[in-house]
Amino acid sequence: CGIIGILGTNPVAPLLLEALKRLEYRGYDSAGVASLVNGTIERRRAEGKIVRLVERVEREPLGGVVGIGHTRWATHGRPNEVNAHPHANERLALVHNGIIENHRELRSELEAAGYGFETETDTETVVHLVDRNLKQGLAPAQAVSRALQRLEGAFAFAMIFAGHHNLMIGARRGSPLAVGYGDEGALYLGSDALALAPLTDRICYLEEGDWVVLQDGKAEIFDAEDRPVDRPIVRTALSG
Ligand code: GLU
Repeated sequence: CGIIGILGTNPVAPLLLEALKRLEYRGYDSAGVASLVNGTIERRRAEGKIVRLVERVEREPLGGVVGIGHTRWATHGRPNEVNAHPHANERLALVHNGIIENHRELRSELEAAGYGFETETDTETVVHLVDRNLKQGLAPAQAVSRALQRLEGAFAFAMIFAGHHNLMIGARRGSPLAVGYGDEGALYLGSDALALAPLTDRICYLEEGDWVVLQDGKAEIFDAEDRPVDRPIVRTALSG
């Protein structure tokens, strides 16, 4: 139900957890975070309140300066730890708000291509769809844009990629997503300005069908037809 993504230079876990607390008001049944640690995806997830996730991260600390977080309002699959986001494999991790309406069809197609499924969620299909494009040799941005063309339904995504320390990709259709511009090249993704408020007050709301590549301190936004577009950056009145 809520998304946060951070591409920065400071330890990311406390920032992700703080942002998830600010997303609590939207309602949720489980939560999770993932980050890149020495180029490898690591994640921690927990059923129930954010405090359970906080305790989990205290017991098993999560390093890294690039990461994503999620509060889930289950639509497909029980609210438990396995179905909690981020969903991941060794190449990518992603968080999703919304519903992939054609998940059954995608699941059969991906199972036929040899993919095993760990969860009951509609979201896991997207991990494998992007993964299949990466394995075919596409770069992350192309792998994502091609996967987006296959999706029916509503979504906001934030994704990170193993071995890509300076990259995060976001997309939205039907669910809100904003890009935040921080100091010293830090970039953020969030469901709303409130989640981003402690991090930055400079925000760009993605428009319907947009997707964005955050890299090297820049946010490159593309529309649903993959054309580069400019979206206004606004200052929010909210502050940390
Ligand atoms: N449909 C996804 C799920 O059930 C995402 C739900 C949400 O927006 O939190 O896992």
